[in-house]
Amino acid sequence: MKIPFADLKRQYISIEKDITSTIETLFNDFQFIGSIGNPHVTRFEKNFATYLNVRYVVGCANGTDAIEIALKSLGIKEGDEVIVPAMSWFSTSEAVSAIGAIPIFVDVSEDDITINTSLIEKAITPKTVAIIPVHLYGSVCNMGKIKEIATKYDLKILEDCAQAHGAKFEGQTVGTIGDIATFSFYPGKNLGAYGDAGAIVTNNIDYATTCRLICQHGQSKKHIHELEGRNSRLDGIHAAVLDVKLKHLKNWTVRRQQIAQAYNTKINNPKISILDIPNYSEAVYHLYVIKTNYRAELIEYLNNNGIESTIHYPTPLPLLKPYQKFKLNNLNFKTSIKIKEQILSIPMFPEMTDEEVNFVITTLNNF
Ligand SMILES: *Cc1c(COP(=O)(O)O)cnc(C)c1O
Repeated sequence: MKIPFADLKRQYISIEKDITSTIETLFNDFQFIGSIGNPHVTRFEKNFATYLNVRYVVGCANGTDAIEIALKSLGIKEGDEVIVPAMSWFSTSEAVSAIGAIPIFVDVSEDDITINTSLIEKAITPKTVAIIPVHLYGSVCNMGKIKEIATKYDLKILEDCAQAHGAKFEGQTVGTIGDIATFSFYPGKNLGAYGDAGAIVTNNIDYATTCRLICQHGQSKKHIHELEGRNSRLDGIHAAVLDVKLKHLKNWTVRRQQIAQAYNTKINNPKISILDIPNYSEAVYHLYVIKTNYRAELIEYLNNNGIESTIHYPTPLPLLKPYQKFKLNNLNFKTSIKIKEQILSIPMFPEMTDEEVNFVITTLNNF
């Protein structure tokens, strides 16, 4: 059996009629650009806000812009320090640097690979202004602890939800817990467009207003520029596709959770360990990541059995070239450096059949 790591084509086939008819409507109204008031963008923003139970959604060009623009709306500026986890996709720290602020890396917890909340306070200095918890792999950061620290030190919280559409912390949707949050709709994400797209979400009207201005060249109305922003718009065509897909997101998430449940309970090879799911967490399994001390052999073995696997991410952020200038002490990132050799993402997508899921489990158990 051949099992791909993910398969966007299968998802497309399952919704093909709705997608093609939606795209046809765009060729009737020609609302391709996400200018102020684009009906496709407005509709999706409203429906995504309802889905998350948040007041404001501002569509933008991608999830990296979303972080950058959200940080700006919080008033974060050059020289400010922003705490980020040592394990994430590059965008998280890149967006901090893009506005002239400084990413301060904090190691992750070995159990679930999200930011280790017991190490955050040590990283706080008088220059610290914000924390970016990343709900990595669709797991949920300990937002209770993070809120406590943020309140104590008067820090803003920006939740990076690029991998966690609809995940919940103690029953509350992530992205609605901090001051502001960002989403990516990169095609492979749990909710993905057919191109780059992203969004900023918040319950704070001032942040929402500023983000919307920044995304639209600072315009409140056509040709009325309140400030210098940029061009970061959610295209009409992506919004229309996202709106079709949003209707299926709940079912797709339930299916991801079912597959994860099967992996959690049936993978019993002592050479493989699974991640911890804390009680407060309702994860949405953007990725399913296992840990093993025999990774090279396991990858080859899976490959020989037709199962694709991949690594998220091979290098912790502080070890990447752009951050060598900080001359950071690797002892501060012991866990990230240890697990980077162990982590492996195995197939996880809602359209996987039970037969495929069972084949992955049996193959892993026979390793
Ligand atoms: C995908 C991703 C982003 C960036 O999203 P893009 O839409 O690709 O710019 C940011 N943070 C995390 C954790 C991501 O996984």
